[in-house]
Order: sequence, then C-alpha cells, then structure tokens
Amino acid sequence: MIGVNQAFSASYARARIQFLEAAAAAGAAIQSHAVGLPGRDGETLAMDVARDGPADAERLLIVSSACHGAEGYCGSGVQVFALHDADWRAQARDAGVAVLYIHALNPHGFSWGRRVTQENVDLNRNFRDFSQPLAVNATYGELHPLLLPAQWPPSAENEAAIAAWIERHGMRAYQTAVSQGQCSHPDGMFFGGHGPTWSNHTLRAVLREHGRAARQVAWIDLHTGLGECGLGERIWAGSDDAEAIARARRWWDGGGATPVTSIYDGSSTSALLTGLMWGAIHDECPQASYTGIAMEYGTVSLEQVINCLRADHWLHRHPEADAALAQTIKAELKAAFYVDTDAWRGQIVAQARQSMFQAVQGLSQR
Ligand SMILES: [Zn+2]
Repeated sequence: MIGVNQAFSASYARARIQFLEAAAAAGAAIQSHAVGLPGRDGETLAMDVARDGPADAERLLIVSSACHGAEGYCGSGVQVFALHDADWRAQARDAGVAVLYIHALNPHGFSWGRRVTQENVDLNRNFRDFSQPLAVNATYGELHPLLLPAQWPPSAENEAAIAAWIERHGMRAYQTAVSQGQCSHPDGMFFGGHGPTWSNHTLRAVLREHGRAARQVAWIDLHTGLGECGLGERIWAGSDDAEAIARARRWWDGGGATPVTSIYDGSSTSALLTGLMWGAIHDECPQASYTGIAMEYGTVSLEQVINCLRADHWLHRHPEADAALAQTIKAELKAAFYVDTDAWRGQIVAQARQSMFQAVQGLSQR
C-alpha cells in the first residue's frame, strides 16, 4: 500500500515509470505498445498493459486511463494505487477475476497535454464504422468558426456571439453540438476521425488478445472534466440495452455511490455521443457478456472546460503563437482535467476503489 498522493504523477513520463514499477512489483504480466513518436520530454510513448491474474480467466475486469490524454493524471493515479493495494488485489484474485490495467490509451495526448490523439482525434468518438457514410453534426459546423476564432484570447465580439448562441439554444444544446463528435472538421474539436487511429487499432489488438478467454468482461474507463468537482459519475458505457443497463445498476448502485447514469435517458451530465470506445468490445470479444462504465470525475465548470479545449485547439492550429501564451494555455488545460489537491485525489481513489470492488462482486455473482 502506498499513500494516495504518491500514486499520482505530474507528467506522463513519470506516470509511465510509476505504472511499470507498480506492475512489476505486483508480478503482473506487462506488454508495452510503443507509438513510435517522441514524448514532450523525449520519453517513449506507449500504451502499457499489465495483467494481474491468469491468462485464461473467464472473468476479466479492465481498468483503463487516458482515453483522453490530459485526463490521464487521474486515471494513472488510480491504476498505480490499485497495483500497490494488497487488499484489492487479494479480493480480485479470490473471486477469480483477472484485472487488466491499460495505462495511457492515448499516450501522445497524455504526454503533450492534449485531450485528443496525435491525429487530433477524440479517441472516444473514433469507434465508428468508417465503411458507412459518417454521421453529420451540422450544428458543430455552424459553431466551428466561433469556437476557433482567428485570435486568442477571443475578442469581445466572439464572446458575445457565443453567449448569444447559448442564450438562444441553451447550454445543453451547446454542450451537445460541441461534444457529440463531428467528422467534418479534422482540425476542429471532438473530431471523430476519418479512419481508426493508432490508439483504436492498438486497443483492439489488446482486447482481442486479453479478452478472448473471457466469458464476462467488466470495464471501468477513467475520465475527468464533467460534473461536480471531485464527484465520480458512473456513466453506463455500452449500447442502449435495457437489460445490460439494469445489470450495471445492480452492480454499481448502492453503497452510498451515485446511481449509474445513461446518455440514452438524459440522466447523465454527458451529452448523447457518437463513436464511443466500448463499441470495440463487441467487435473484439463477441463471446463475452459486457458490463462497463465510464467514471467521470468533475473538475471545473463545463464552460471553463470547453474554453480550455477551444484554446488548446486554437494553439494546435497556431504553432507560431507566443511561447508565454502557449504555456498558459497548456497549464490551464491541465488544471481543467486534474485538480491538484490532496482532497480531490482522495475522492478520486476512494470512488474508483469502490467501483472496482463492486465490479468484482458483480462479476462473481454470475
Ligand atoms: Zn474523457
């Protein structure tokens, strides 16, 4: 067992070292999938996978971090803490559950302080059938020039135009238009891609290999940036399947936890999204029964999160920007997805740990 604060790192490079050390100390089987691009500090970028439990386990729990790169500070801390947590590891082992930790689904974004991948793609909007015509998000197209104006910080006119749009259509419509996913603007926000990204391909290979013996798969995917600060919203991460959603609610409701929410019935703070990552489970592990959630931890206000993302995308399109401005944008983006206080880290770990115990309990009931 280590202290909660010790499990968290201030950079991707350090987080990766901590994860690999914790996995090795736990005797977990480790595989590293290198991106082949340098990290911000020259470090290797990789999606690292640690399996704690037998290769042929029929019950598999996946705990994954940094689907959205800048959210990886949180998820990595949870994973490192868990690998050092003897009580947790014994509980999973005794229940016959193998735990697969996937560290840095999007290592490039984690290292470089972006939410998106090296392809400027939102990984959690990238799991689409690219052989079919891509869904159109026309409202995003309307907002795109306002979201990413020529200059940053935005002018008073730009701020007034966005405020007027929100006034006319409502904050929820704004959130949906911006965050739902779009495939029309490759240099824009929440871009779903024009094909599977490196992380998409790599994750699918990991799921195929590690999920093929499983009869049941549970998945807890760690995110930040939505909802009340420090509160972990358990959002159903699967198709609009009433039976599966009811199962998730049996597993994760109770014990003082907030109820499992769904993007399909309006109970979640998240908008209805497209191209979500859980879709890969059904493709790669079709034999397994699947039950999964995104744990979405609140940080700062939604408006602040969106504005930090606008700034980051603006910077991506303006590499000539002043160094001081670039540094401010990066620092504000990090703070929008990681609240650097002991209290917040304590809340994160406590709620993740509870969800993990609940998942093991749920897996062993069936
Ligand atoms: Zn996220």
